[in-house]
Amino acid sequence: MKKDLSIYIHIPFCDHKCIYCDFYSVITLEKVDSYLKNLLTEINFWAEKYKEQFEVKTIFFGGGTPSFMSPEYLGEILSEIKTKFFVSNDCEITMETNPGTVDKAKMIGFKAAGINRVSIGVQSFQPDELKFLTRIHDRKQAETTVLNTVEAGIENISIDLIFNLPGQTKSQWRRNLEAALSLPIKHISPYSLILERGTILNKMVLDGKVELQDADYDADLYDLTIDFLSKNGFEQYEVSNFCLPGYKCNHNLAYWRYKEYLSFGTSGHSFIGNKRWWNFSALTFYEQAVQTKGFAVSGEEELTEKQMEDEFIMLMLRSEGLDPDQLKKRFNSLWFEQNKVFLDELISNGFLAGENNFIKFTPKGYAVCDEILSKMY
Ligand code: SF4
Repeated sequence: MKKDLSIYIHIPFCDHKCIYCDFYSVITLEKVDSYLKNLLTEINFWAEKYKEQFEVKTIFFGGGTPSFMSPEYLGEILSEIKTKFFVSNDCEITMETNPGTVDKAKMIGFKAAGINRVSIGVQSFQPDELKFLTRIHDRKQAETTVLNTVEAGIENISIDLIFNLPGQTKSQWRRNLEAALSLPIKHISPYSLILERGTILNKMVLDGKVELQDADYDADLYDLTIDFLSKNGFEQYEVSNFCLPGYKCNHNLAYWRYKEYLSFGTSGHSFIGNKRWWNFSALTFYEQAVQTKGFAVSGEEELTEKQMEDEFIMLMLRSEGLDPDQLKKRFNSLWFEQNKVFLDELISNGFLAGENNFIKFTPKGYAVCDEILSKMY
């Protein structure tokens, strides 16, 4: 029987660089065509090696800005994957989208190319916040993109929002959540603004031009988010992911359930068996490697059984919760027995909810889950 596989494709092209972003992306388009050729070569290389073992259950176009490309561009990649791998009929195929890069006709083209889930980088609905984040769109374009997606026949829509922007009040953030839920979306990923090294925002903070709000305020906004979304029917199934019933992102679930995945394109990470490897980030190195070898791996590691068990526990705890039977079956693990005292303490303090030994973070626990996990490990 074939195992489940997820495929990620990185499209590194963007219209411009946002001040907070540390994803690998370039703002020149001269390599768009050669990148497509290299992606197809890379897909062929890995398909020859792994095709027989797997059935592809999810495909995710991330970036960069995949919606900056034409529907034919993504369509060609999808058709290569469908020709070279076994792809399940109900495969979830997600495209990250930026408002301002796609109109209704283009979205209809993406649907025809095979996209059936769209994740839209809205980030905020307020003009001053969008300006601060240097996004290229305004509120109207964000709303229109959601409505165009529905009209194109794609109803599985997620949006990303960023909270704890400098000076953002609780009512401003609440207005963003209200604006999001006034739209026909099924999924929402609210992220706290994170200062990444090497970004323009990082330099602005170091130069004293921008002042970030503190961690306690961030926690208050996060609590408000959980409370607001749960009262409006959205289930939290990971630290930063909420959805209406039946609309969890299967691609992300595959990562959190520690399933196997292949990634194509610059900076893509893959995980098969006990091996993890990653591609060159820089476009030039990526292209040179694919043209000479057919693949672009820049590093790899072999995981021990213990490392895999630890990663599995952390990923499951951060998302849907941890099932002792599953853990025992997969790793023959004694983790529950060894951590009983600590786990009981977390349950009695309201950070974890436990039922038949199955444990899951409560909303209070999600707010401090990184601290709890770092205590555990
Ligand atoms: S559009 Fe997205 S990937 Fe591109 S620079 Fe902005 S945040 Fe980063």
